[in-house]
Amino acid sequence: MANKENNQVLLEVKNLYKEYDGKIALDQIDLSIHQGEVVVILGPSGCGKSTFLRCLNGLEEIQGGDITFHGHSLTQKDVEWQHIRQKIGMVFQNYDLFPHMTVIENILLGPEKVQHRDRDEVMKQAEQLLDRVGLLDRKDAYPRQLSGGQKQRIAIVRALCMNPEIMLFDEVTAALDPEMVREVLDVILGLAKQGMTMVIVTHEMGFARSVADRIVFVDFGKVCEIAGPEEFFTTPKTERARQFLNIFQY
Ligand code: ADP
Ligand code: MG
Repeated sequence: MANKENNQVLLEVKNLYKEYDGKIALDQIDLSIHQGEVVVILGPSGCGKSTFLRCLNGLEEIQGGDITFHGHSLTQKDVEWQHIRQKIGMVFQNYDLFPHMTVIENILLGPEKVQHRDRDEVMKQAEQLLDRVGLLDRKDAYPRQLSGGQKQRIAIVRALCMNPEIMLFDEVTAALDPEMVREVLDVILGLAKQGMTMVIVTHEMGFARSVADRIVFVDFGKVCEIAGPEEFFTTPKTERARQFLNIFQY
């Protein structure tokens, strides 16, 4: 992939420190995410990946360090998170669509109620996005009528319809049956091709290798290694990363 490290820094994490009840979850995390860059975070269960993503969009309080978005600190008291979160989209493992609302109602909710956008304009965008993920014909379906893979693609569309500048994905395929993993990963690959800035936590190693500009390997709440995907998967520098990759037989 093209070198994006010369691009403008969108999100910058400096010396991030986070604990839960005195137990360290993240320690001395430094990471700059550049415009258009795809950063994949790898690491064993419990190493702090979800906590890190949650810190990035203000779902967790941090005890030290700073996070800046477009150069503005997100750790000040007066940060307007409702505004920032529209710019930092997030999709979780368990699609959290509202069960009593149709697909299109789920998608329009944020743009209409939070962003106060014009319904016709949002509808047009929503339909384009649904078409792009191959689900335009399901727009009036209810979540219960969809497969897990379809629900997860809708959750991605819903986040995209807010026009975020960066997308965070936390193991979005981990709860899916194997045959549905591909269709969701392909949507994310498509976003990467279009230049969307993304931070992705995944255990799909082949996908990580193909989508990432940089791999960040985290262990025990610390960044252990940062490398390009080819370098990381062929010649990891740390013993911990080698052990981790062995588990996935990479
Ligand atoms: P990962 O996503 O890499 O599996 P997490 O970020 O979920 O890891 O968790 C990192 C560490 O923080 C773990 O030790 C976990 O038990 C702990 N942790 C996560 N969330 C909470 C919480 N809400 N309260 C207390 N401890 C937590
Ligand atoms: Mg997690």
